[in-house]
Amino acid sequence: MVSPLHTNGRAELRDDKVITPFGDLAPRPDIRPEVLLRLSGKLQTTLELSQLLEIFLEEIQQAVLVDGLTLTHDPSGISLATGRNSLHTANYRMQTQQDYMGDLTFHRSTRFREHELANIEGLLSTLVYPLRNALRYHEAMAAAFRDPLTGAGNRVALDKTLGREVELAKRHDQSLSVLMLDLDHFKQVNDEFGHSMGDKVLKEAVIAMTGCIRQTDMCFRYGGEEFLIMLSSADQAGALRIAERIRMGIGQLMFTSEKGSLQVTASIGCATLNMTDTMEELVQRADEALYVAKDSGRNRVISDLDMEFTEREEDGEKALP
Ligand code: GH3
Ligand code: MG
Ligand code: MG
Repeated sequence: MVSPLHTNGRAELRDDKVITPFGDLAPRPDIRPEVLLRLSGKLQTTLELSQLLEIFLEEIQQAVLVDGLTLTHDPSGISLATGRNSLHTANYRMQTQQDYMGDLTFHRSTRFREHELANIEGLLSTLVYPLRNALRYHEAMAAAFRDPLTGAGNRVALDKTLGREVELAKRHDQSLSVLMLDLDHFKQVNDEFGHSMGDKVLKEAVIAMTGCIRQTDMCFRYGGEEFLIMLSSADQAGALRIAERIRMGIGQLMFTSEKGSLQVTASIGCATLNMTDTMEELVQRADEALYVAKDSGRNRVISDLDMEFTEREEDGEKALP
């Protein structure tokens, strides 16, 4: 039998009043069957978590006065809110024997009374299966955009996300930079330490990259050992600072195996958006800067502006007699 469980088996109120639901003395839910029927029907119309939460809040307001609702599901990094946060809260853990489906918090400016909590609990039973399905859908969608080895975004996610960010940056006249990063001599890592060590290095490198960027920035696997890091609101100076931090972070990683210890380095090309750039042009400039970083000795950061400087120098040399 599936039923919503409460945090520690209980509904907890902010003022430390604890109510044990469905006990002998606890009030029973008092909800009209047509409300339950309508709610069940409506909850089946969407697989989108945020929509599901909105529908649930809107519908239960017919039966109980609630200001707002939040859902958190830490394993998936989900934290959603609808309506208003208020002083008094009632928390429920949604769990079946197989699945943990997150923690729901109901908010209200006045205390929840026992019969109202009983009603909330009665209404919650309609949410169990729709919530489980929406979570599975969310996980499937997230997996479709993620590289399974490293957890970084994949190429599909990159095209979608970077395309949108380029448009937004241009529309709001904001900075946007990208880093193209490639691990140096990575073939040797595989050759000398084995493919599974190579995989481990890739995973740790992504952890090091994501540790250096903000939550609004994103890391994508561009190819085998090549990554694109999107830095929102970063101008060239900011992007170069982050790139240098990433380069150093990767250089400090230490790997050990029976074949000995291993350290890796990375080369990084950095490009900052011009207002006339397409997404492809921005990425291409970062790629060209990466190529220059490789060509000039690896384990370094080169920006597209440095590259222009190099090109100018070359032009100058060509102009000399
Ligand atoms: P450079 O410094 O010029 O970038 O040299 P490199 O050896 O890193 O470059 P190259 O392109 O010659 O080799 C890349 C290697 O990355 C070859 C490939 O086997 C390895 N590789 C790509 N994807 C994966 C992966 O998912 N796991 C592992 N273990 N290795 C991978
Ligand atoms: Mg490489
Ligand atoms: Mg490469």
